[in-house]
Amino acid sequence: MDLMRIDLHAHSTASDGTDSPEGLVIAAAKAGLDVVAITDHDTTAGWAPAAEAVPPGLTLVPGAELSTVSVDPRTGRRVSVHMLAYLFDPLSGALVTEQSRLRAERRTRLRAMAERMADDGLPVDPDEVMDALPADAPAGRPHLAQALVRAGTVVDVNQAFAEYLGNGRGYYLPREDTPVEAAIDMIANAGGVTVIAHPFARSRGSIITPEVLAELAARGMTGVEVDHPNHDEKTRAELRGLAGELGLVRTGSSDYHGTNKSIPIGAETTDPDAFAELVARATGSRVVVA
Ligand code: AMP
Ligand code: FE
Ligand code: FE
Ligand code: ZN
Repeated sequence: MDLMRIDLHAHSTASDGTDSPEGLVIAAAKAGLDVVAITDHDTTAGWAPAAEAVPPGLTLVPGAELSTVSVDPRTGRRVSVHMLAYLFDPLSGALVTEQSRLRAERRTRLRAMAERMADDGLPVDPDEVMDALPADAPAGRPHLAQALVRAGTVVDVNQAFAEYLGNGRGYYLPREDTPVEAAIDMIANAGGVTVIAHPFARSRGSIITPEVLAELAARGMTGVEVDHPNHDEKTRAELRGLAGELGLVRTGSSDYHGTNKSIPIGAETTDPDAFAELVARATGSRVVVA
């Protein structure tokens, strides 16, 4: 048990990763992982192909990363919250409806960003960018970043975010995400568990406060991602303490995106006891073994 290596946050081509769902589970096994979760943004489309390809010795955890927003009722301040959800029923009605709305919203928003760039003379063809995505795929900024890389405007996805696509850069457009409280309820109703992703990743923009974290815990959120590439040591220590006070399960994961990011799969891992706790609390779907 001590040697178990568990990575509970990874993306495939079903959202904005570069490994196919099949490739993702193969990459996980090659990296020596015992457990990997597939957590594409706002879709479960990768679950079935990933499950088909699970090699002997690997456990696949079906999951997703939900795009949610926390709104402070006093100030109106909006903070983007990425909510990992595991082992929920993918056919649960309210969840299906909301995630499908969000994917449509993602397409409208990404096309609008592409059109703005084209209007300014950047070598981006909005139709080409959108047509390259499967119907109903969760379109995201990395897809637009790839178009800029292909056109030679930037050398990599990172530069595309730094110069064009990041929050506060010229072409960034917001999106109408799910209220975080509603997302927690939807996943709980679907028998799943929720873990807030990279809650204190300041490099990504404004972050939630410890008070909001406490409110989400009271609402029924299950855990927090403590060990994440965007958290420095001090942040991890702070989060570890807060999680302890609030009774939240602590996870650690790579947030692997294939070659869209430089972090390898398995770069951060979750303690086996924490993983067991998540599995014990979920009833909506099961882990997959070969
Ligand atoms: P979106 O879902 O369209 O809001 O885009 C957010 C996604 O872009 C995140 O899930 C990351 O995968 C990716 N991302 C954000 N910042 C960067 C960055 N600096 N370099 C590479 N990818 C990034
Ligand atoms: Fe992503
Ligand atoms: Fe995220
Ligand atoms: Zn992620």
